[in-house]
Amino acid sequence: MASENAQTAAQGGLETLGARDAALLESYSAVHMNVFGTPLRVMDHAKGARIWDVDGNEYLDFLAGIAVNSLGYGHPAWIKALTEQASKVAHTSNYFATVPQITLAGKLIEKAGAPEGSLVYFGNSGAEGNEAAIKFAKLHGNTMENNTGKPARVLALTHGFHGRTLGALSVTWKPTIREQFGPLVPGAEFVESGNIDALRAAFAACDERGPVAAIIMELIQGEAGVLPVGPEFVRAARQLCDEYGSMLIIDEVQTGIGRTGEWFAFQREDLSGGVTPDAITFAKGVAGGFPMGGLITFGKRNSSLFTPGSHGSTFAGNPLGCACGVATLDTIESEGLIANAEERGAQLRDALEHCGNPLFASVRGRGLLDAIVLKHPCAHAAANWALEHGLIVNPVAPGALRMAPPLIITAQDVDQAVEVLAAIPDDLPDD
Ligand SMILES: *Cc1c(COP(=O)(O)O)cnc(C)c1O
Repeated sequence: MASENAQTAAQGGLETLGARDAALLESYSAVHMNVFGTPLRVMDHAKGARIWDVDGNEYLDFLAGIAVNSLGYGHPAWIKALTEQASKVAHTSNYFATVPQITLAGKLIEKAGAPEGSLVYFGNSGAEGNEAAIKFAKLHGNTMENNTGKPARVLALTHGFHGRTLGALSVTWKPTIREQFGPLVPGAEFVESGNIDALRAAFAACDERGPVAAIIMELIQGEAGVLPVGPEFVRAARQLCDEYGSMLIIDEVQTGIGRTGEWFAFQREDLSGGVTPDAITFAKGVAGGFPMGGLITFGKRNSSLFTPGSHGSTFAGNPLGCACGVATLDTIESEGLIANAEERGAQLRDALEHCGNPLFASVRGRGLLDAIVLKHPCAHAAANWALEHGLIVNPVAPGALRMAPPLIITAQDVDQAVEVLAAIPDDLPDD
């Protein structure tokens, strides 16, 4: 299966790029700020779980944007919703509302099983959902008894990721992407993920350091390499929040909308320990490829903290995004894609565990948010090798390959992906 060309590319080069691709990528670099590095390919069109570059090469997409294209590419229901809405009204300010907006908010509350009085705020990205969540935490912090004179704190976890805007970055752990932008929003504090004693100590330090307004966490840390934080830890966080009057905010930006085999990851006992959060954020998969994100506050009291004028965004609740969101949620339901995520995920992990590739140490994840843990840190070369062999996976960490395919993938798609992954050579160069 491995051609000479692929071997060369796997060594880190782009030697097998097609001619059009190579020329366009040079043009790209001449006009784009270099925050993403050089893209791997220039993509032209896509259908279902497959995408083609400008040189006509076909790829099976086991990343789906990054967990964004829930329905794959070009789903008829999604295209119909988008084009029909575009021909009706594409944008209004928030001085006005639209029907898809109202419908989507209602559906999200219903899918989350959120209690009576729960409310939705729409933004345009995951970071914006988390900005709203941090403001929510601050509004709550203002209502807390506070003898320290210090602002209420927001706790976050080591290895957590919540976005690149300054508020979201304040609670994002990775020092190399955070520290150069300091000083950031004060009052953010990191607790070691999984360490219940450290968590208890952080809450208990309220007399010296200010009360804890909230803790924000993912249930599977996607950007860290698909790491579950563990149900016992989440349960402990819920108990401490109850004890200290703090908010439990779960970032479902990557894990939400069916990705982990439930509508939201907190609905999985094996991820959340069965707790109910005070708020969740969502984005990536919600509108099947249209930029959209937001916050759901649970219950009446939590939902009364924001008042007219306390938050907003020009594009918030955009009708195109909301129409795409409604089509995405309805299609996930009508096509049984949550069950498919669970079944295809189990098939994928099982096949990878038994595929005999000596490079693989283990496989982890839930539903269709999964990672292969590598025996040595060659994720970039491994992902490049897969790309050269027609499969998109993501070197999320030097020792981990992330997979987040569209929820529509079939058993045959999984077989095809596993065939490529099983053949990744184990002597590739480290990152
Ligand atoms: C991707 C991601 C974000 C940021 O979303 P953007 O749309 O890139 O701003 C926040 N939290 C988690 C868990 C994510 O995976």
